[in-house]
Amino acid sequence: MEDYLERIYLTIEEKGYVRSRDIATSLNVLPSSVTKMMQKLDERGLGNYERYGGFTLTDEGHKLAKKLVEKHEILENFLTLIGVEEKHIYEEVERLEHYISKESTICISKLIDFFEQNPSIKTSYIKYCKDSQKGN
Ligand code: ZN
Repeated sequence: MEDYLERIYLTIEEKGYVRSRDIATSLNVLPSSVTKMMQKLDERGLGNYERYGGFTLTDEGHKLAKKLVEKHEILENFLTLIGVEEKHIYEEVERLEHYISKESTICISKLIDFFEQNPSIKTSYIKYCKDSQKGN
């Protein structure tokens, strides 16, 4: 459900609206699964499922989706920072974000901020990683 919510949120941010087929395409799932999920989100008070595949988020749905997207971004930045290969990042984040706690995410976010504010440390960390790779 979280993946759908994230995708719905991002699509609305980008286009101003969302249709079930947008989500089906971007998550590579059947339109009927998207419809089911949208109806479920509606039942939970997170959104309003409309006819012809339209969907809007309620305030609660918007808040939750925004949190999920922020968590996704933090984890994505983190994996990028520690040198995970780009092609694996999306998949890894999608797995991690379901398990990691809010507290750990906040700690990771601090670590990212620290590296951003101390670029020389970041550079030496990246160099350290490259050097240790050569040693393999
Ligand atoms: Zn995600």
